Amino acid sequence: MAHGPTQTISDNPGHTASWYAASALDRRVRPLLQGETQADVCVIGAGFTGISAALELSERGYSVAVLEAERIGFGASGRNGGQIVNGYSRDLKTIAGRYGQGKAAQLGDMSLEGGAIIRRRVAKYAINCDLRDGGFFAAFTDKQMREMEAHKRDWEKYGHPGLDMVSRQEVGRYVATERYAGGMIDRLGGHIHPLNLVLGEAAAVESLGGRIFERSRVIGMDQGARAVVRTADGSVSARYVLICGNAYLGPQFPEISGRMMPVSSQVLTTEPLDAALAEALLPADYCVEDANYILDYYRRTADNRILYGGGIGYGGRDPSDIPAVIRPNMLKTFPQLADVKIDHAWSGNFALTLTRIPHIGRLSPTVYFSHGDSGHGVTTTHLLGKILGEAVAGHAGRFDIWSSLPNLTFPGGKTFRVPLTVLGAWWYGMRDRLGL
Ligand SMILES: Cc1cc2nc3c(=O)[nH]c(=O)nc-3n(C[C@H](O)[C@H](O)[C@H](O)COP(=O)(O)OP(=O)(O)OC[C@H]3O[C@@H](n4cnc5c(N)ncnc54)[C@H](O)[C@@H]3O)c2cc1C
Repeated sequence: MAHGPTQTISDNPGHTASWYAASALDRRVRPLLQGETQADVCVIGAGFTGISAALELSERGYSVAVLEAERIGFGASGRNGGQIVNGYSRDLKTIAGRYGQGKAAQLGDMSLEGGAIIRRRVAKYAINCDLRDGGFFAAFTDKQMREMEAHKRDWEKYGHPGLDMVSRQEVGRYVATERYAGGMIDRLGGHIHPLNLVLGEAAAVESLGGRIFERSRVIGMDQGARAVVRTADGSVSARYVLICGNAYLGPQFPEISGRMMPVSSQVLTTEPLDAALAEALLPADYCVEDANYILDYYRRTADNRILYGGGIGYGGRDPSDIPAVIRPNMLKTFPQLADVKIDHAWSGNFALTLTRIPHIGRLSPTVYFSHGDSGHGVTTTHLLGKILGEAVAGHAGRFDIWSSLPNLTFPGGKTFRVPLTVLGAWWYGMRDRLGL
């Protein structure tokens, strides 16, 4: 039986051939920027970060022009696992160890806000994005269980009320597999159709008067009293510019792109399953991610597919055959799916920073940027986009907390950063395989 994806060409032009693009509810193509125009704020990139900032600013009454090189949600925001994971890519204990207790407390105070922003906007703008509550972190070993218990205690100090440990015997309430030693649930986690979320948020920006231009790649910027942001066919003159291109940002802003590394991750979806089977595999309809360094993440979709992700490509490289990499992992978790067809398989790039902490700052007093959510960005991008908007509006307190965190360049420069990071990841992956 053939297991390769049945859909490899997107019927939603400009998007990668994903299940998300195939099931997007809003397929309107926005105009490309032609000629000169003006706005209070020009946002570069229509992913979660850029659209979150644009929505915050539109709600505050600013005029906003968003320039997107491809389509809204073309990047990681329209292709990810859809998991609402609270917190950051480094836990608060590590953050406290590195930057001090004070910084950890400040970041801890914000660590549940990204998820709350998503839920608030979904409700306020009636966004249909299949929002479900609840996430399960799966442990393979007793060591990972102990780490989760410590993580839970630490998180509760910062006021997280939704965590509970799950014993080996209780795993079946969340996922029908023999693989795990236990885990932890986060009731404030959850999952969404990410492309429909960002499309809904973009429509909210437009409903407030904001303008979004697609197929309008920024190719340069001139800075004077007002910045002039240029595309091939037009320009936006703006008081403020927010650079939110993340892993897809081209060479135009080397000060930013030099401090992150694009990393790819791969995802597939099965054909729609019988509803009873889908429910039997994931009875609580929570999303799941495991505790390995190179992790698997998966969930049910609203039309009863299993959406399964994992794998990693430093430098943004993709395997030539995505199902060949991801499907065996899925079958280790769910051998029950051996005869099920794979309908879609795709990959996307997120931006990794050396510290695994997002990098947010200013290139000049009026040009701000944010990138580098390092793989856990659904919530953080919503938070940091809002914080970019607050800073433009003159409330830079939270922006300053984030921008004061040190950001380091990758050792090895552009030539050796990928092999050195692969070496580090190999080491941690090996420890996971050996159960160390
Ligand atoms: C496969 C995959 C699975 C993931 N799963 C999860 C998950 O389950 N949970 C989670 O929390 N996180 C997950 N992440 C991470 C998360 O998706 C990202 O952190 C987040 O979406 C980044 O959003 P962003 O807006 O910063 O960047 P992006 O969504 O990548 O948006 C950047 C946009 O900028 C545009 N752009 C770039 N350069 C220019 C330019 N010069 N001019 C105009 N436009 C430009 C791009 O076209 C793109 O649309 C995953 C990432 C990937 C790749």
